[in-house]
Amino acid sequence: MLYGGIEAGGTKFVCAVSDENLNILERVSIKTTVPEETMKEVFEFFDKYKICAIGIGSFGPIDINKNSKTYGYITSTPKKGWNNYNFIGAIKEKYNIPIAWTTDVNAAAYGELKKGGAIGLNSCIYLTIGTGIGGGAVVNSKILEGFSHPEMGHILVRRHEEDNYEGKCPYHKNCFEGMAAGPAIEERYKVKAYELEKNEKAWEIEAYYIAQAIMSYVLILSPERIILGGGVMKQRQVFPLIRRELKKLMAEYVEMPNLEEFIVPPILEDNAGIIGSLLLAKDIEI
Ligand code: ADP
Ligand code: ZN
Repeated sequence: MLYGGIEAGGTKFVCAVSDENLNILERVSIKTTVPEETMKEVFEFFDKYKICAIGIGSFGPIDINKNSKTYGYITSTPKKGWNNYNFIGAIKEKYNIPIAWTTDVNAAAYGELKKGGAIGLNSCIYLTIGTGIGGGAVVNSKILEGFSHPEMGHILVRRHEEDNYEGKCPYHKNCFEGMAAGPAIEERYKVKAYELEKNEKAWEIEAYYIAQAIMSYVLILSPERIILGGGVMKQRQVFPLIRRELKKLMAEYVEMPNLEEFIVPPILEDNAGIIGSLLLAKDIEI
């Protein structure tokens, strides 16, 4: 049995085919341009195999409500060509196989829980801090979804007292994403985020926002592990700052797990999303 996986990102699509033990036979990375071009390459890749199910972890927002007319669509993205794009419809037209459909971060959370940094646990949150901020959660080993998928990047945060930056979210201005995603860091300091490596104050402020978000997630969901991925989190020196801030913010109200083990980078590194997508294909309940 072969399974297909697509990690559909705003910059690139990663497609892979695996056997039932999740050994990857082949993977490709395809530039995200417009659907006609990108999907053509996606189909050229999968046409070479006889896959029995496919899992998709997509950039969002996406419609995951099975009763909705636009189920399987990428909905209100500003990305040209992908707004109201019927992703599942396009796949179904080509292949008559079961499809698992969720967000990129949900897939990554699932991948980390089953094969990565949260193996053996029942719950985790995967947060990506990159061009935007998105989070996915697995609770009781199932992806957490409601009327829609979580949008953990847009929660409200309290401003750092030394930060005058107004915020970059087009919807909420100074929400978590508006204050802490890569583009916000770059607009605030007028340099590329990786060039700030030695700027301790910048990372202290960044850690303050991330710790606040984690505090909310912890208080609401009590996940057993929090995995922080995405380009900004390549700055590994931020991890201890986040743990320190979180400890301060929690003020010993909740007895926390060991923070070194609780807040970690992704073990699957940049493969969390694609591994999660393949696992979702395999785990589809038919
Ligand atoms: P995407 O979110 O588009 O999938 P990334 O997760 O790589 O891609 O996020 C890109 C953002 O991450 C950029 O805005 C940049 O500011 C930031 N970034 C990328 N690499 C680094 C790095 N090494 N250090 C700090 N920030 C980085
Ligand atoms: Zn927002």
